[in-house]
Amino acid sequence: LEPAYQFMIRVRLPGGVATPDQWLTMDELADQYGNGTLKLTTRQTFQMHGILKWNMKNSIQAMNAALMDTIAACGDVNRNVMCNSNPNQSELHAEVYDWAKRVSDHLLPKTKAYHEIWLDEEKVIDGKEAEPIYGPLYLPRKFKIGVAVPPSNDVDVFSQDLGFIAIVEGGELLGFNVAVGGGMGMTHGDTNTYPQLARVIGFCTPDQVVDVAEKILTIQRDYGNCSNRKNARFKYTIDRLGVDWILEELNSRLGWELEESRPYHFENNGDRYGWVKGEDGHWHHTFFIQNGRIKDSEGYRLKEGLRKIAESQIGEFRLTPNQNVTLSKVAEEDKPEIDALIKEYALTGGEHNSALRRNSMACVAMPTCGLAMAESERYLPSLIDKLEEILDEAGLSDEEIIIRMSGCPNGCSRPALGEIGFIGKAPGKYNMYLGAGFAGDRLNKLFRENIGEEEIINELKPIFFHYAKDRKEQEKFGDFVIRAGYIEAVESGLDFHQ
Ligand code: SF4
Repeated sequence: LEPAYQFMIRVRLPGGVATPDQWLTMDELADQYGNGTLKLTTRQTFQMHGILKWNMKNSIQAMNAALMDTIAACGDVNRNVMCNSNPNQSELHAEVYDWAKRVSDHLLPKTKAYHEIWLDEEKVIDGKEAEPIYGPLYLPRKFKIGVAVPPSNDVDVFSQDLGFIAIVEGGELLGFNVAVGGGMGMTHGDTNTYPQLARVIGFCTPDQVVDVAEKILTIQRDYGNCSNRKNARFKYTIDRLGVDWILEELNSRLGWELEESRPYHFENNGDRYGWVKGEDGHWHHTFFIQNGRIKDSEGYRLKEGLRKIAESQIGEFRLTPNQNVTLSKVAEEDKPEIDALIKEYALTGGEHNSALRRNSMACVAMPTCGLAMAESERYLPSLIDKLEEILDEAGLSDEEIIIRMSGCPNGCSRPALGEIGFIGKAPGKYNMYLGAGFAGDRLNKLFRENIGEEEIINELKPIFFHYAKDRKEQEKFGDFVIRAGYIEAVESGLDFHQ
């Protein structure tokens, strides 16, 4: 008898955009083949856990029927392209999303193996499939792309191998600044590995963006480290060869030169919750989904409530980079129907949660991620319960502080960009990091190693009180801990371990 192996399926969903029917498909599949829940990921897509091996094909075929696939959702290729989900700028969002989708489509692997294995399409019999961009060996490692629209850096553009920052003037999209070489992952105890922020190297117009993405990806294909997977991400290629070299090589492959980068300004990397009216008069409601887990529990029928919203066929869903979901494009006349469902199911736009919880993210970790060294999603909410008591006492309940936890140093929840970051070391033990920038523009740094809950609370309590007493006006927690001398600022990933 074959063991009942379980799998995780991750959908490819550029920019996190899903129709109500696609939402309903995922909701049903989670019940039919998964563990009855859905996980909204930090890369704006769905993960379904607990799929038994013999249900994989049925699940993927049902997704395919709803025009979703899992191509390049894993592997050494370009992954799900992220895109800003700011509903304030609906027309601009649509335009930027369109470019993000084009980049995603262009960089999709061309192999038909997926269709052959999962969709029962014709076999490739001559074995001569061509991958014009990836070549016969694909990339040395996964590759991640994100597109941000300032002032929101919700996609954490500097955490991406390749980031595009939209440059907008008078409501018009002029083009994108190009940022290269970000990444969160590292290995405990190996200082040759580190999180790094992408660096801005120039500017291109919208119609050049696909070409730029392709050529940058081919530089990593040709120069990335293929002999050591722990040193294979694009960030290490850049740190080895230099930013100037990369720019020169890129310009030479393009046959034209990137322009000078343009000024931009990010204010935050979080989501704006609740109802927002877009420029075109449509409404958008962002729901707070703790750690992206959609499930029904006693007293909170979140999954059912969102299913009812999808059944109404009003609007479209946008999975955010912070594990939340926005119901977008709701017409004025449809808003009361959605409001009634929000009320009936007590769905929250974060208004009943502390600012710390609204700014929290945790990866899946145990029990379904085989790489986890410690709990994350199942533990962070209870740690926040305890920290909320202290913040309350210190008068900081409404202070937006970014807190992130990952179960291992792969960093799926982008913990190196948390003003307070935790990375699991062993069951119940975490490395604690402080000092990241509120707009996702500065890495944090190791503050305490291998500590448990009691020490975490004992360390943070006096800092919270000190922050409440001595912070300057508008000073963010990550900036304060540096000014107050708790931790040094990290200028580059190369300083992360120093
Ligand atoms: Fe798994 Fe590690 Fe990613 Fe968490 S950070 S989901 S533990 S691989």
